[in-house]
Amino acid sequence: MKRLIVAAIALSAAASPAAAQSAKDLENDQKNTNSILTYGMGYGQQRYSPLKQIDKSTVQNLVPVWNYSLASNRGQESHPIIHDGVMYLTTHESTVALNPLTGKQIWKTKVDYPAETPRVACCGIVNRGVAIYQGKLYRTTLDAHVVALDAKTGKVIWKQKAIDFRAGYSQTVTPLIANGVVVTGISGGEYGIRGFLDGWDPETGKRLWRRYTIPAKGEKGNETWPGDTWKHGGAPTWLTGTYDAKLDLVYWGTGNAGPWNPTVRKGDNLYTNSVLAIRPKTGEIVWHYQFSPNDPYDYDGVNELVMATLQVDGQDRDVIMQANRNGFFYILDRKTGKLLRANKFVKVTWADKIDMKSGRPVETAITASIRKGNKEEIWPSAFGGKNWSPMAFDPARRLAFVNTLNFGWTYKTVEPKLRVGTFYFGVEFAWVWPQGNRGYLKAIDPLTGNSKWQVGSGIPRMAGVLATGGGLVFTGRMTGEFEAFDADSGQKLWSFQTGSGTIGQPVTWTANGRQYITVLNGVGGVYSLFSGDKRLASVPAGGSVWTFALMPK
Ligand code: CA
Repeated sequence: MKRLIVAAIALSAAASPAAAQSAKDLENDQKNTNSILTYGMGYGQQRYSPLKQIDKSTVQNLVPVWNYSLASNRGQESHPIIHDGVMYLTTHESTVALNPLTGKQIWKTKVDYPAETPRVACCGIVNRGVAIYQGKLYRTTLDAHVVALDAKTGKVIWKQKAIDFRAGYSQTVTPLIANGVVVTGISGGEYGIRGFLDGWDPETGKRLWRRYTIPAKGEKGNETWPGDTWKHGGAPTWLTGTYDAKLDLVYWGTGNAGPWNPTVRKGDNLYTNSVLAIRPKTGEIVWHYQFSPNDPYDYDGVNELVMATLQVDGQDRDVIMQANRNGFFYILDRKTGKLLRANKFVKVTWADKIDMKSGRPVETAITASIRKGNKEEIWPSAFGGKNWSPMAFDPARRLAFVNTLNFGWTYKTVEPKLRVGTFYFGVEFAWVWPQGNRGYLKAIDPLTGNSKWQVGSGIPRMAGVLATGGGLVFTGRMTGEFEAFDADSGQKLWSFQTGSGTIGQPVTWTANGRQYITVLNGVGGVYSLFSGDKRLASVPAGGSVWTFALMPK
């Protein structure tokens, strides 16, 4: 018997050479700098690395090592994954494997799209990258399919339809591997959809569960929707969640209610604009917290839910934090969902504060007027105080580095028209631009929402942020510069022109003792599509991958 077990173990090890990306490896991702196995450089999505070869004094010697063309003129937002000497990336139409030291392509697999695939997802034809697990890569596609590929060859192993894209759905999200389940979200909150999360078997592609983010008739929470409004109520799940392996809870944000006009769906509209804590094996909702009940303003609650241990009121708490589109910076206990903090981090006029007892926003007279059908100016705009571009959290400095937005909008409700697959707003609106800076990179104290420093920019930065043990903060501009700032002062220490707008997610990693930084450029995404900012007309399209390291001495 004993011998049999030993033989079985040996066999399973031999059968899966890539058993390297086990559940444990994913859990320890942040600690192992030779690989990047998870979206956000760790299950907690801190986008922080202790690496410090590149620091405040050496960053002056940071130079490009290689560049790889993605052969795509769309916005590039893919999060790089690195394992066993191979880097994996996506565009909306391909998955590629590269040698991370040379930038040479190992394989490239195209996504086959039906001719009628919509060429307009709401906010950009993008893809945010692959997940990796036991020798396979997992990605989503614009026509709402989930695909598994062989990491060695790029061969498609299985492809499953999540839902019919003709009903307004699409997928750009990076899957999350949690407790051996591939969890995926869905986009389409502006198109009259009903959102959900799916859990898939990584081996076979069998769907294990679906959790709709809007309860059906007869389910708890459906009473927060009048009539049949829940059927097209939105609550998309278009950004990747975080995972606490100890608690076995996945934290996933949900997007806006549909239509934007709230007067036709009176009630809280669960579970729109919320965070859901779910069991990855079953999709069961363990707790939820709703940021913006009966949201009029497209304040999606999907932004990254960063895990950290913070001292709150003299006590160490395991928390998730989020810089919400609605302009408040939230801290919640991640075991119970208890609200611990909610403070403004940008200009906010829709609510005075969040009531800490009920967890509900205390809305202003302006919002009351809007709910009566009047035209008013509101801050922040539908873009939010922060959009999708992920922030970084430096656990030593206890600062979140966040690309924030500084503009409002005028807003008036009108009769919504539901034509499935087209915009479902029921609102007339126009952006309200400030004089000067439309965005600030801020170093925010999560406990107060206050900034230690901020760096403005005329065209707002829409890239992700990376923080390192070298005391550096990396991010990019829509005009192409990839930049490094002093984490303590905000002073700009280094900049490199990448040749197209940078809206990607910078990461850092090591090989043979050398620290590298990788980021994608390629202008596009929500701001370039909807702002009408004429200054972007002179920024060339063209996506590529840049990798940097210190010049050898
Ligand atoms: Ca939305």
